[in-house]
Amino acid sequence: MLDARTISLVRAGFKSVLAADDGPAHLARSFYAQLFVAHPEFRSYFPASMDEQRDHFVRALAYVFDNLDKDDRVESFLRQLGRDHRKHGIDGSHFRAGGSALIAAFRNFVGNEVWTDEVEGAWHRTLAFVTDNMAVAADSDELPPYWGATIVEHQRVLDDLAIVRLQVDEGIHYFPGQYVSVQIPQRPKLWRYLSPAIPCNPQGEIEFHVRRVSGGWVSPAIVTESVVGDRWAISPPLGGLQVDRSLRDDVLMIAGGTGLAPLRAQIMEMARYSRNPRVHLFVGGTFPRDLYDMHTLWQLSLSNPWLTVVPVTEEEEDPWWHTTGTHELPWGMHHRLHGPIGKVVTQFGSWADRQIQICGSPSMVRTTIYALRKVGTPMQHVQHDPL
Ligand SMILES: Cc1cc2nc3c(=O)[nH]c(=O)nc-3n(C[C@H](O)[C@H](O)[C@H](O)COP(=O)(O)OP(=O)(O)OC[C@H]3O[C@@H](n4cnc5c(N)ncnc54)[C@H](O)[C@@H]3O)c2cc1C
Repeated sequence: MLDARTISLVRAGFKSVLAADDGPAHLARSFYAQLFVAHPEFRSYFPASMDEQRDHFVRALAYVFDNLDKDDRVESFLRQLGRDHRKHGIDGSHFRAGGSALIAAFRNFVGNEVWTDEVEGAWHRTLAFVTDNMAVAADSDELPPYWGATIVEHQRVLDDLAIVRLQVDEGIHYFPGQYVSVQIPQRPKLWRYLSPAIPCNPQGEIEFHVRRVSGGWVSPAIVTESVVGDRWAISPPLGGLQVDRSLRDDVLMIAGGTGLAPLRAQIMEMARYSRNPRVHLFVGGTFPRDLYDMHTLWQLSLSNPWLTVVPVTEEEEDPWWHTTGTHELPWGMHHRLHGPIGKVVTQFGSWADRQIQICGSPSMVRTTIYALRKVGTPMQHVQHDPL
């Protein structure tokens, strides 16, 4: 546990990095330069283009420094990060080398005048705390760093969306609502998080719903280039979205696009129980054609009276250029509502007595949280994955 003075010195130092022109990018470049000079062999763990890696690095640092005074939260984040790095071939010794490189990079950034003995001590204590947590988690994890899996079905349900089913070599145990990291043969070393859309099962079948992000590296390849027989790597599960059954509170789920996947997996799991809290699921898309999974959801709601599914689209009509044809909503289903999903959901009140989960793109999650906050929804009831 770090003392308040140490935390405030490290935060003040990092704040000066964030405030400087090009500061975060400069610090990240200097960190990787220090690391690769001291350990040239580490370069092979990273992709050719380091831009995205540097962004992730700075965002993770910002999260850690913001939460240094919240032991539970920061330690569980660091342990998860440590375990997650194993897919790159990294172990505990690499994190300690990373800690030294970051101290050197920060020292270069601030210069000798600011780098007093007290500041140096604070950075050493903080980086020891960070790297120890990551190293212990990575070295003590008994799961393999990833499993192999083969695509057995690839369905392009929309121009920009594919449902991909894989057979994993060995069963992966995950809780519905968790996510995993995947690496595809078309984009080696570029791991991306995806949320399984079905609960884990003894047969080792897993299903992902993937939307093509325009200009993205990996998602366009999954939607347009992946084929049956491709071999993927899938890393151990992360995250903790879940319905707390002990609370007995009803549930509000809000999905944008493929954010439906982890919510659908949880609903499918709940369908195994005879008694459940009521679940209201709002499923959003930009256009009517984006509501790609309504028939499955409708079937689930017919056999599970605790589930209500409400389709929502921002636009009332499909664009003229879309080619895949709109799926008609099943007869009897709640009619489609229109507007930004957060606004639509909050027209029904603040849902203050609900457990709430929001899943979708980072902007969808942020605007939905904003809408809920505006109507007074208690934020401690709201869960979402890291953005
Ligand atoms: C916990 C978690 C679970 C996820 N689960 C799924 C899932 O089940 N299905 C799925 O399709 N995606 C999911 N994603 C998003 C996925 O991991 C990738 O970020 C996304 O597929 C884009 O990857 P890319 O390589 O194509 O784009 P990149 O090359 O990484 O990024 C290209 C550009 O697109 C932006 N961008 C990245 N992601 C999005 C996004 N979602 N919406 C809008 N802009 C974006 C980036 O900021 C960047 O500017 C999940 C993300 C997280 C954090």
